[in-house]
Amino acid sequence: MTKLLSRENYIYAMSAKHEPAMRVKSGSEIVVETYDCFLNQIDSEKTAYNSIDWNQINPATGPVYVEGAAPGDIIKVEIKKIELEKEGTMVTGPELGVLGSELTDFSIRKIHVENSHAVFNGKINFPLRPMIGVIGVAPKEGEVNCGTPGEHGGNMDTTLITEGATLYFPVFHEGALFSLGDVHAAMGDGEVCVSGVEIPAKITVALTVITGEALSTPVVENQEGFAFIVSKPTLDEAAEEAVKEMVHYLAERSDLSVSEVTMLLSAAGDVQVSQIVDPLKTARMFVPKMIINQLGITKIF
Ligand code: CA
Ligand code: ZN
Repeated sequence: MTKLLSRENYIYAMSAKHEPAMRVKSGSEIVVETYDCFLNQIDSEKTAYNSIDWNQINPATGPVYVEGAAPGDIIKVEIKKIELEKEGTMVTGPELGVLGSELTDFSIRKIHVENSHAVFNGKINFPLRPMIGVIGVAPKEGEVNCGTPGEHGGNMDTTLITEGATLYFPVFHEGALFSLGDVHAAMGDGEVCVSGVEIPAKITVALTVITGEALSTPVVENQEGFAFIVSKPTLDEAAEEAVKEMVHYLAERSDLSVSEVTMLLSAAGDVQVSQIVDPLKTARMFVPKMIINQLGITKIF
């Protein structure tokens, strides 16, 4: 039977100091329940800014100890299923998101989620694009609050992290100490207002240890291709580092030189923006499957 990890096992920072909430064998499939990124504190559009405890933000459910994972390994996370609740929440306001310097009032929008659509108001709806905002492992050093992304994953707010996608993370500690939270019913690249359609959810993942390969930043793979995801103080730094990670990966695994791979990426790859509103900004370098296949790479890791 698939094990269920209740959302009551939540943490506000990814860190090696937490006692594991669950231990699983490599290859196990588990179901993880999550709160929304506000710990479900916002129950109506009238909720006052000051009635929200802003210290209770971005809970991630975990950590899960994966037996056999050791520092230097890779943990593979297959996202098998994302099941959403029926209502999501968006917020924006002063000092939040790209328009934070212009906005004068804090505002909340409750968004009903039905079938394949989210209802924004009486006239506007848009397709659901369920994805996971916060997902990762215990970082190399100290603790990183779940609102911040990094080499360990965390708040990457990357739209490619959907049902059917596979993620790869570097392992820094025994057991990897995996956790996830901050599911969005929909989010656009950039997450410009500071939130997606924040929603509680239930996620089915399979966790597998990969040995003998090294990785220094998260990778996401889907049917269309794969991307290195990098978070840095500026979007420029993040994008450049993501390109470099991809170039070196492809040059090592093909008979092309670094300059040839760079040309190939310049013609057939895409630098993409994940988010521009978190404490570090996140970008990714995406390469389509068609190119990977022609390079003779049959498996990402
Ligand atoms: Ca987020
Ligand atoms: Zn979120």
